[in-house]
Amino acid sequence: MPYQVETLSLSTTMDTLENSVNAYLLVSGQDALLIDAGFIESAPVINQRLLKSGLQLQGIYLTHFHPDHSLGALDIAATNRALIHCHRLDYKPLIDLYQQYLPSSDTSRLIADLEDGHTLAFAGEIFTILHIPGHSHGHIAIFDQKNGNLFSGDHVIPVGTVWIGPPDGHLVDYLASLDRLLALDVNMLYPGHGDPFPSPQALMAQMRQRRFDRENEILLHLNTGEWTAMSLVREIYGGKIPESYHWAAKKTVIAHLQKLYDEQKVQMRFDSDTRLFYYTVSSTNSR
Ligand SMILES: [Zn+2]
Repeated sequence: MPYQVETLSLSTTMDTLENSVNAYLLVSGQDALLIDAGFIESAPVINQRLLKSGLQLQGIYLTHFHPDHSLGALDIAATNRALIHCHRLDYKPLIDLYQQYLPSSDTSRLIADLEDGHTLAFAGEIFTILHIPGHSHGHIAIFDQKNGNLFSGDHVIPVGTVWIGPPDGHLVDYLASLDRLLALDVNMLYPGHGDPFPSPQALMAQMRQRRFDRENEILLHLNTGEWTAMSLVREIYGGKIPESYHWAAKKTVIAHLQKLYDEQKVQMRFDSDTRLFYYTVSSTNSR
């Protein structure tokens, strides 16, 4: 029996978290599969949805550990006697997160069994797990190749900018994973934030280009001399985003600097007086 995808648009009042997120309920007859699980207060909403139609939950699949996608999972798993599946690289961060937000809860239903290339069968279709690190080290996407449905978590979103900040985020990995998704035949993108998005190839190509534009902008500045990450933030983002977001922009800039350093396009120097790192184009690479 074919499956239907229900987009569960979930919200939270916790102001430390991003305030809306998607989970996806795949339904076929009485069987259901949940991709991501929303916030703590999303759990009763999703449990109610399952109960209303007497759906049997076959499992919860987390695209990555971030709290807006994962906090609801423990309650849903316990209520429906289901397992929570994640990639092993996001297992420890998930356990830490549950201990922080839900200290007395049981995490024994969480298992780190999602590896790249694994498949799962649901509704007579085959879904492939793709390990796509970058936004988090253990980020996965779930792809139904036959129908071209891609559940992309936060790796590809049609709204805003994907957050790539160390230590969770890694830009080289992110771009390699994006190239991998670009090579797939996707009809419909089901993102972690924003509405489902048909034929997302142009969107993905645009997201990729935006990273390279930012990188070139940073390189142009570094060609003029030594910069700290924060001085780059003030130059690039100053006046465009509120000062209270500069810490996030700084992480983004550091992700770029890390990539450029790994590629030996920039060099860095630690100054013991200011206790800051200074970056410039590497001497073999200056124009
Ligand atoms: Zn995320």
